[in-house]
Amino acid sequence: MKRHLLILLSTIFAIASISLVIIQISQTKKSAKISENLFNISVNNAIDKVISQLDQMRVEDYVSQAERHRLQRFRRIDDMNEKMQDIIRINSELFYDENRVLFGISTQDSAFAKPGTHLSSTEENALSQYNTLLNARNRLIDNSKSRNNRNNSIDINTTIDATKLNYPLLDSLIREELIINGVDITPYIGVLLSDADTLLYSSADANPNDLRNTAYKYSFHPHGISSDENLFVVLAFPPAPMLLSSDTNRYTIISIFMILLITLLFIISLRTIYSQRKLDEMKTDFINNMTHEIKTPIATISLACEMLEDESVTSDAATRLNFINIISDENRRMRILIETLLQSAKMSRKNFSLNPKEIDLNSLVLSSIQNFKLTLQNRHGTIETHLGDINGTLFADDLHISNMLHNLIDNAIKYSDHEPHITITTRTEPGHVICEIADNGIGIAKEDQKHIFEKFYRVSTGDVHNVKGFGIGLNYVAQVVALHKGSISVSSEPGQGSTFTISLPLEQ
Ligand code: ADP
Repeated sequence: MKRHLLILLSTIFAIASISLVIIQISQTKKSAKISENLFNISVNNAIDKVISQLDQMRVEDYVSQAERHRLQRFRRIDDMNEKMQDIIRINSELFYDENRVLFGISTQDSAFAKPGTHLSSTEENALSQYNTLLNARNRLIDNSKSRNNRNNSIDINTTIDATKLNYPLLDSLIREELIINGVDITPYIGVLLSDADTLLYSSADANPNDLRNTAYKYSFHPHGISSDENLFVVLAFPPAPMLLSSDTNRYTIISIFMILLITLLFIISLRTIYSQRKLDEMKTDFINNMTHEIKTPIATISLACEMLEDESVTSDAATRLNFINIISDENRRMRILIETLLQSAKMSRKNFSLNPKEIDLNSLVLSSIQNFKLTLQNRHGTIETHLGDINGTLFADDLHISNMLHNLIDNAIKYSDHEPHITITTRTEPGHVICEIADNGIGIAKEDQKHIFEKFYRVSTGDVHNVKGFGIGLNYVAQVVALHKGSISVSSEPGQGSTFTISLPLEQ
């Protein structure tokens, strides 16, 4: 895929996802506003209903309203009694066994297991359910008694005495009506005397300031007569519900998550396309380099052959030898090139295996150096060796270790812009043999050091036309080291030379 097409695609994607996020945010805001409006409408409806009920109420109605509530409570008390009876009936074996369960004074009193009695978990459950219901029922009875008393305390003949309103009744009417209108958040309720800014009533745990400053403020005339006192029913709701509890928020979170997921997938696809493109470029470079690398020796060899055919040239033994040397040198270069390519391809196969035997690393180093004598002579270079004693046995594949050394020395000479001076050091560390190949060449930048062992990777400055290569040499070296369970590292500074350090495990 072309670079500008990639940029175009990414831009379109970025614009599309940003638009999506903006649309999503504005939709969320809109639906939050709608929910808020719906909520307000429901609250207003509920309070309107309660207030209009209260507005129409005469004091007698007020009492009968209270009476209706009392009846309702008794119905609930009956319900609870019935449930308790059910529990006793279902668990009759337990409840009628006086050796295991005792009641307080009567069967309507709390039940408890006799000390030392063993109860099954179902039985324990039944007992605790019974006691809980009993407790709740008793509380309800107490409540309705006191409510009843309070109802009776309403002064029927009072004209507008706000202090004598039946606030708990008003409170429960509002709560009921809110539930009927679909408001499932429990509000704090208060009655505010606006002129004096006094709360005549506020439900438990309510913050008086919240109630005084609330937007949910409804004027009402509890006795059907207009009051100068500015009496208000005020409501305050606890802070906004948790993030995940509302449907709107849930959908927003899901869609933000989806957008993030799509973005992630897009980035992964872009990266894949990008690395694919890079690989393509590397392959093209490889083919170009390869063609050039093979074409040059072939051209040199054919030229040398032509010269050898010329009788005036062949008559001179020294010139003839020179041409023969050129042919053999070029031939060797091609052989090494093809060998590295073949070995690298072989190693990539899964079933590749080494042919290890006991080897002497120092003598392999010395014989590798021999191959570079001519090249070093031409470049006025030197190779210095510090070969230490190796305390232990190195089991390795000599062919691959030689190739490895060859590649590293070849690079040390290739990537040097003046006379190459190379130092090869070997030494033993506990359990390992270390081989260091240091040069005074062009060096490698930090960001390239991470990649030089990757297949086909070439440092772009290393790609100048006089330094040819395929980017497979160091990859091959790294594979050889890994197959021998060793490690390789590089330390280098641009312009200061490079040192490749190889560590291979020794057997004692
Ligand atoms: P190549 O065929 O390009 O030499 P390698 O895999 O051997 O491939 O090396 C990869 C890259 O690492 C090279 O392109 C070169 O830029 C850099 N490199 C390798 N060895 C050295 C070195 N001794 N000094 C400087 N750069 C090096």
